[in-house]
Amino acid sequence: MIKLYNTITRTKEELVPRNNKKIQMFVCGPTVYDYVHIGNARTFVFFDVVAKYLRYRGYEVDYIQNITDIDNKIIERAQKENADPLEYAKKYTEIFKQDMEALGVTSPEYKNATDHIPEVITQVKTLLDKGNAYVIEGDGIYFDLSTFPDYGKLSGRTASMADDAVSRIDDSDKKRNRGDFALWKFSQDGDPSWPAPVGAGRPGWHIEDTAITEKYFGPQYDIHGGGQDLIFPHHEAEVTQQCAAANIKPKDFVKYWMHVAFVTNKERKMSKSLGNFEMAYELLKKYPKEVLRFYLLSGYYRSPLDLSDKILQQSEAGIRRIYEFVQKASLANGNGEESIEERIKETRQKFFDAMDDDFNAPQAFASVFGLIREINPALTADSLDKNSVKKAKEFLNEVDTMLGIIPSKLEKIPDEVLELVEKREKLREEKNWAEADKIRAQIEEMGYRVDDTIYGPLVTRR
Ligand SMILES: [Zn+2]
Repeated sequence: MIKLYNTITRTKEELVPRNNKKIQMFVCGPTVYDYVHIGNARTFVFFDVVAKYLRYRGYEVDYIQNITDIDNKIIERAQKENADPLEYAKKYTEIFKQDMEALGVTSPEYKNATDHIPEVITQVKTLLDKGNAYVIEGDGIYFDLSTFPDYGKLSGRTASMADDAVSRIDDSDKKRNRGDFALWKFSQDGDPSWPAPVGAGRPGWHIEDTAITEKYFGPQYDIHGGGQDLIFPHHEAEVTQQCAAANIKPKDFVKYWMHVAFVTNKERKMSKSLGNFEMAYELLKKYPKEVLRFYLLSGYYRSPLDLSDKILQQSEAGIRRIYEFVQKASLANGNGEESIEERIKETRQKFFDAMDDDFNAPQAFASVFGLIREINPALTADSLDKNSVKKAKEFLNEVDTMLGIIPSKLEKIPDEVLELVEKREKLREEKNWAEADKIRAQIEEMGYRVDDTIYGPLVTRR
């Protein structure tokens, strides 16, 4: 049984798709006016794993992510750089897709907002016709919150009069309620606009999502994901629009709402060597994608994840450990007698149990590392039987299919250095610090350095 935490009910629930083994999933994508921040990358990598995991478990996952390629922020940035807003958005759409590919995010189908203007206009018209929306001349079309008593069901806030429900583009003193949000903005000062019977203009931020999901999924579907910061007002607005347009209740629009917590770097503890990098492409220059994916998955997705040199190094050490294990397993002959088939079966079960429990990847990783720690000596000594070696490799392959964390190649550390590292580990276990330090100096003379992490020693070139 797969369980997931549902924001709208505030409980962990069993995943029961609306249609058997078919899952329709939508995740809020980027507004394309800048490079992808590591915090956004966390959301995108997480849902990539959700899709891959569910597919592995036999579900047919139809996963759509939107790309907001028309928005106030895009227009502002483009103007600052004297660029055409739509061209500017195109450039950053490409950059976004490259970054996602570089991070191994391969599961979503992308849909641009600007390719769905007719669907947006249809939804706006429906809401106008039903009396849920009204026109402010020379400004735009707004949703009238007083016509929707269920407002606030997702976020637990009934903030129709609150200031923080309003973004700057939605601000107008002619609005009926303070929290009313724009569905459509009439064309102004040469901003990009599209002809429409309601008046030429462009979509508001919230409506593109429901226009896209209604087109591909209908007015009801299974999973909607995004960053935690989107719950209010963005997702609340989506619930409001779609439920009003289709005459449904908030609980009947999207069955499960999933939200990913932030990446925090409050204390700016990153060293100069990393230059306080927070953009995914900058971190990708320094770390293989598998290390970044592992890092992003190493914290439970509903808790904030810290970004620091230390934690990135730890992630690198963790991935090296898995990589070296896989390398060793592929070299092992399986000439020994020892069978660990049961142990692998157990670990595999623990792995799935953890992932089934609201995608608890860190706990799933813990079971993998437990297995590695336990059978590493036997693998080194080549004392395992053929079947065990085969099963160990198969299991790691499965993990990689779901999580995408095993590199096909990592920079080779010379055997002499690895031998010294192992020797140093033994000395450290014996608390022979003086000798261990001598060996560290020896390693450094050879042009390498050792950092001790929770996953064991990390060896890198100096
Ligand atoms: Zn969205």
